[in-house]
Amino acid sequence: MNVRIPFDNSYARLPDRFYARLNPTPVAAPRLIRVNRGLAEELGIDPEALASPEGVAILSGNAVAEGSEPLAQAYAGHQFGGFSPQLGDGRAILLGEVVGRDGRRRDIQLKGSGATPFSRRGDGRAALGPVLREYLISEAMTALGVPSTRALAAVTTGEMVRRDTMLPGGIFTRVAASHIRVGTFQYFAARGDQEAVRILADYAIARHYPDAAGSGRPYRAFLDGVVARQADLIAQWLHLGFIHGVMNTDNTAISGETIDYGPCAFMDHYDSRAVFSSIDYQGRYAYGNQPNIGFWNLTRLAEALLPLLGPDEESGLAEAKESLAGFAPRFQAAYDRGLRRKIGLAGDDESDTALAHGLLTLMAENTADFTLTFRALCEAAAGPEGDKAMHALFKDGSAYGAWAARWRARLSTEDVAPEGRQAAMQSVNPAFIPRNHIVEQVIESAVTAEDFGPFDEFLEVLARPFDDQPGRERYALPPAPGERVLQTFCGT
Ligand code: AMP
Ligand code: MG
Repeated sequence: MNVRIPFDNSYARLPDRFYARLNPTPVAAPRLIRVNRGLAEELGIDPEALASPEGVAILSGNAVAEGSEPLAQAYAGHQFGGFSPQLGDGRAILLGEVVGRDGRRRDIQLKGSGATPFSRRGDGRAALGPVLREYLISEAMTALGVPSTRALAAVTTGEMVRRDTMLPGGIFTRVAASHIRVGTFQYFAARGDQEAVRILADYAIARHYPDAAGSGRPYRAFLDGVVARQADLIAQWLHLGFIHGVMNTDNTAISGETIDYGPCAFMDHYDSRAVFSSIDYQGRYAYGNQPNIGFWNLTRLAEALLPLLGPDEESGLAEAKESLAGFAPRFQAAYDRGLRRKIGLAGDDESDTALAHGLLTLMAENTADFTLTFRALCEAAAGPEGDKAMHALFKDGSAYGAWAARWRARLSTEDVAPEGRQAAMQSVNPAFIPRNHIVEQVIESAVTAEDFGPFDEFLEVLARPFDDQPGRERYALPPAPGERVLQTFCGT
């Protein structure tokens, strides 16, 4: 079957030093796990063709599609605070870009497609587990309304990869608004290549912040835009209990999408210090520290852009500081607005933030499940009959009662019908998130028993996170004590 992918590759037209051109390395025996049909259609690609043997050859790197100009992108990055001047796509290859039916330009990238000049000591491959993990969580994030890279497809390779043990290999096809990272700017800035920084900034503006181009200070407006999108993004993460786990500057996308689902996790019980990543020893990327790290990463971007921000160092610095100063208020406003909606408030009263934080504190003290608590609260908003479920979520049942009295007093000041309020709350408080223990279970079935049924079913559940799904209640439950996942791994 003829696979037509309408490539239009703008990154490949940038100067040579932005990337290394090379084809993916073929694999022994590729097999399709899944094609994301809806996304394929959005991109103007026939899903049937993509799922055909010719399509699978492209998705596994065994064939190069017509119009594709494969390349590995150069980038640098601060990892856990330490700077690596050269990272780059060590196991990923950009096949090219397509402009979708919605007019948006997006990258199509293979991840796990073989060694590149940026591989350092790595093998350029991905294990099947992390491929499935990224597929599930990036699609779940999208359904939850969080800007995110997407999953177009996943294949197994028929080859094993060596990690701590030998594991089946996989290749993930990622779709992203772009793969430009804070670290892409750092790569050129660290080399003193100001011309490249400017070319990249102009490119990123045209692609992601076209309004900035028309402003009097395009680079300042660009930085302001990235700051705003990151602030909004991280606020959304917190509203859902999401912990990215590796907020390195090379994993911070200029587009404002969540990128790189390595050791990420959604927390079960609420704890602002929660850390899951096996390599985050000091809690640098803990749940509650994510806004601070977001700001830190944006500061690295501002540094890389300094020469563009003003005619001399002093004025550039002043612009950078002003722009960065926008982060905290933007984040706080987005975070508070979201919290108000989570507890069912339409308006904005001075005392609302304290009220919402009162609930979070109770949740922390009572190790209440984050997602279940907010979901149960939707019911409680419709009437006190809903309180029973709330009480059950707190170790100290009376703790909720006192808070609920304050909450109801505040709710009664707003003229909103209870059913309407409940529906509004249910549209921001999901019933289903990719809980760690279920993610691990479905991966385990796929990896050890080659049974992808549980993966497919979980993906279906996660596609409608805000709907009650009768018969699928178990997916909404926190782990039993024996099921609890304490650590997640990058699996690189
Ligand atoms: P990540 O932890 O996935 O954000 O990757 C950090 C850096 O390590 C990037 O430059 C990756 O391309 C590189 N990398 C990760 N895993 C591998 C691998 N298996 N082979 C080669 N490079 C890798
Ligand atoms: Mg990365």
